[in-house]
Order: sequence, then C-alpha cells, then structure tokens
Amino acid sequence: MSDAAISIRNLVKEYASQGEAPPKLALKGVSFDVPEGGIFGLLGPNGAGKSTLINILSGLVMKTSGDVSIWGHDIDRNQRNAKANIGIVPQEIVFDPFFTPFEVLENQGGMYGIAKALRRSEDLLKAVHLEDKRNAYARSLSGGMKRRLLIAKAMVHSPPVLVLDEPTAGVDVELRRQLWELVTELNREGVTVVLTTHYLEEAEELCERIAIINHGELIANKPTRELVDMTREKIVVLTVDRDIDVLPDDPAFLRCEKAGDQIMEIAYDKDRANAGQVMSVVQEKGFTIRDVTTREADLEDVFVRLTTEAQAAEPASAG
Ligand code: ADP
Ligand code: MG
Repeated sequence: MSDAAISIRNLVKEYASQGEAPPKLALKGVSFDVPEGGIFGLLGPNGAGKSTLINILSGLVMKTSGDVSIWGHDIDRNQRNAKANIGIVPQEIVFDPFFTPFEVLENQGGMYGIAKALRRSEDLLKAVHLEDKRNAYARSLSGGMKRRLLIAKAMVHSPPVLVLDEPTAGVDVELRRQLWELVTELNREGVTVVLTTHYLEEAEELCERIAIINHGELIANKPTRELVDMTREKIVVLTVDRDIDVLPDDPAFLRCEKAGDQIMEIAYDKDRANAGQVMSVVQEKGFTIRDVTTREADLEDVFVRLTTEAQAAEPASAG
C-alpha cells in the first residue's frame, strides 16, 4: 500500500442537466494523493468543485468515472472499509434541533454500530470543548459550537482521516482561530486532515501542502512554502507617453506584459526590488511615465498565472 491517506485518479463528475440548465462538468479528471499524517488544503474559489469532490468521498454524490481510495480501500470495491476510515464534516450544518450534543454523538455511534460501552461521546465532547453543553438542545448552540459538534460527530468512529468542507466559511476571526486550534490538535494526535477553503490565508496557516482546484481542474499541488512564494510578487502598472512597440526587459522583472497600447504591467519580487527601481528601468528604455499604480499579487493572480501556465503546457503534455 502507498502512503496516501486518500488517492484520487482521473475523477470526473458530470451533474445531469436539470430543466433548462445544461449538464455541468464539475470535475474534469482530477488526480492527486493526500499524504498520510499532515494537514492538506484543497483550495479553490466558489464553484470550483471542492464540495463535489468531498461529497464523492462521503458517498453523497456518485462519481461519473475515475478511482478513489481511502486508506487503501477503493470506494466502489470496498465501500465499507473506505467509509470506516474517513470522517466528514459537511459544508452545511444540519442537526435535529431537539437532540442534545451528547445524544447527537450517541446516535452517530449507533449508526456506525459501535457498542454503547465503546462509544467515546464524553471524550469527544471534551475534545471539542463542549462538555458543558452536553445536555443543551442543539438548536441553542451558537454557530461555532455547532461546527465543533459536527467535528466531534465526524470523529465518532475514530477514523484516521478527517475531512472538513469549508469549516470556517462565514465564521468570525475568534472562532476561526478556535477551529484552527482544534484541527491542529487532532492532527497532532495522528489524524490526517483535509480541509477545503477559499481563503488562501487559512490554507497557508494550517496546511503543509495545498492543492488548488479551479473550474473542476487541479491547477496546482505543492508544498505550501512554494505556493506562498508565488504571492511574494508585486505588480506595478505603468501608463507611458507613447505606444509600446518593444516591452522593456530587465533581470529585476518577473514578468512584463502589455495591458493596453500605452500600458504595461510589470511583476517583480517585492523582497528583491521595488517600484522605484522598476520605473527607473522603464525610463532608461526611453519611456516617459504618465501614471503609476501598484498592487500586491493575490490568490487571483496566482490562479491566473497557474491556469495560464497549465494551458501553455497542455499541447506538450497531451501526447
Ligand atoms: P465548491 O464547493 O468548490 O464551491 P461545488 O462542488 O459545490 O463547488 O460546485 C461545483 C460546480 O458544480 C458548480 O458550478 C455548481 O453550480 C455545480 N453543482 C454543484 N452541485 C450540483 C448539483 N447537485 N447539480 C448540478 N450542478 C451542481
Ligand atoms: Mg463547497
């Protein structure tokens, strides 16, 4: 067996057409491995296909084609073992409002066929810091408490892999911190964690490795360090006094692109150059600068860059 906690190969999901809506290809042949032991981030904008992928893992959504293994068990051939080895915290919070946190966990334990004596409901409530809410109605819990209860619920059968779908979407900074700590604690105890997020900052803080998904395609799968380095660039947009025939070039530039007849966008590494230097180079090449704006590269730029690179690489790798 490989060291992958989750292995995904050529995963395709097409949602059937609904009424006027055409079929939707939500996953276009995604392949990657989640290594055992770490915190793995699946990052992508809304609509990228993250929940579709997670819901395939949990069995909520049927894949169209491709192979998925969880802890070495194929989800088609060995569904029971695959399910036993994963806990999933869905994006939507759904509870029966009249159960208490203790009952929610006991019921879930029952669903997994865990004998009463072997259930860990009390320990799990402690682990997610809800022991004092043991007997409260679920409907009286705050949003953050509900999320923590969902994490405990996903851990009832002690799976080695925990998947959280956008655990911090729409939660405040304080609660986000709490959830990050909880996830880190679980990981320290040996649980492999996968989380989806559309916040780069969150993936950066928590994850050793980040895969980026965009329009159903995997466009990056890198150690976090490498990905963060890509956001270290800054972009200066210069409007010059005449039409640009030849773009200036310089070792200090990461990229220089034409954004209009008289507009150029120059990316540079902000640790190694500054806007002043970039402008001097442009002036030395005989341009007069009429206007300047600068911006930090953000996730959007990283996306654009990665998708452009992926498209450029396609013809070569297609054969
Ligand atoms: P994410 O979780 O990254 O925001 P989703 O996996 O929820 O993305 O959605 C991916 C794409 O699939 C979106 O375009 C979404 O509208 C579409 N989609 C999701 N669920 C369904 C469904 N049940 N039927 C049809 N299209 C769907
Ligand atoms: Mg989603």
